[in-house]
Amino acid sequence: MRVHNFSAGPAALPLEVLHRIQSELLDWQGSGMSVMEISHRSKAFIRVAEQAEQDLRELLAVPANYKVLFLQGGASGQFAAIPMNLAPADATVDYVNTGNWSKRAIVEAQRYCARVNVIADAKDTGYNNVPAESAWQRSGNASYLHYTPNETIGGVTFPFIPNTNVALVADFSSSILSAPLDVSRFGVIYAGAQKNIGPSGLCVVIVRDDLLDRARDVTPAIWNWRQMAADGSMSNTPPTFSWYVAGLVFQWLKAQGGLASMGERNRRKAEALYAVIDGSGFYRNPVAREDRSIMNVPFTLAKPDLDKLFLGDAKEAGLTNLEGHRSVGGMRASIYNAVTPDGVAALVTFMQEFERRHG
Ligand code: PMP
Repeated sequence: MRVHNFSAGPAALPLEVLHRIQSELLDWQGSGMSVMEISHRSKAFIRVAEQAEQDLRELLAVPANYKVLFLQGGASGQFAAIPMNLAPADATVDYVNTGNWSKRAIVEAQRYCARVNVIADAKDTGYNNVPAESAWQRSGNASYLHYTPNETIGGVTFPFIPNTNVALVADFSSSILSAPLDVSRFGVIYAGAQKNIGPSGLCVVIVRDDLLDRARDVTPAIWNWRQMAADGSMSNTPPTFSWYVAGLVFQWLKAQGGLASMGERNRRKAEALYAVIDGSGFYRNPVAREDRSIMNVPFTLAKPDLDKLFLGDAKEAGLTNLEGHRSVGGMRASIYNAVTPDGVAALVTFMQEFERRHG
């Protein structure tokens, strides 16, 4: 039996996509083989790769002066690749710290840049909001500005795209494809695949052409954006299966009406969940309302000794992976694109009943 899966990542995939994979697994396009068993350089796979890129470009309306790369090493690999591709070793770079994932990006950048300037830090509010842009202490000479539009653990989202006259670099791992996005505002967008794109193993990087000539000589070839762009993201063997599945997810998104309709659907899902949290004295979400994520919804119970019971009963009701990140505890419901409105409705009903019984 399929469950409603609220995992933060690797996360739920659309059922239609899983059925499609199942139906063509043993004999892909009449080849007598699975898609995993053919060369990444074969014409058939190149078609898959190119179609996936084209569909992603269409979904996000990626302007022509951007490259779309399908890389490995996850978003964490890009934490290092970003400074190596964009800044010399003696550079100053600007970072906004809104929580766990921003911090990881900052720590990695500190290994590669002389000065990592944390221009705003949400520490004072317990990482429960986005610091007002007017108060950011920007460097005059930064090579780029990095931020994390959606903090997967804290459930904090930027309700705005920062203004800057340097290259804007954004870790969209947990919110890419959740709603329309104006790509032209960014220098670099990157996202690990395992939430809203497909299986783990891929990291999508969208980079503006004029930023491709800055890489340091020591940048590993597989993370050198210019090199990878020239090689069609195939300087080495890519994770072909993940790429193929990502392509199916892009087609599924298009069939759902694209990102405008997904954004609307995601907003309604999140509203339903926050309504049950805010409407009770039993559940609590600490994030400032205007900065709440529509993808990751952390919440706590008024009586933390009920956490185990909540998770156990939820699992029995077919609602899985609701435990909060190990660093913060409590609960977290990740409600990415593939989590259906029905799944969220089932969670809402369960939470209301649990409160009635134990509140
Ligand atoms: N950034 C964000 C916002 C994330 O949520 C994650 C993973 N949860 C990462 C970076 C790290 O991704 P990866 O494991 O693909 O390196």
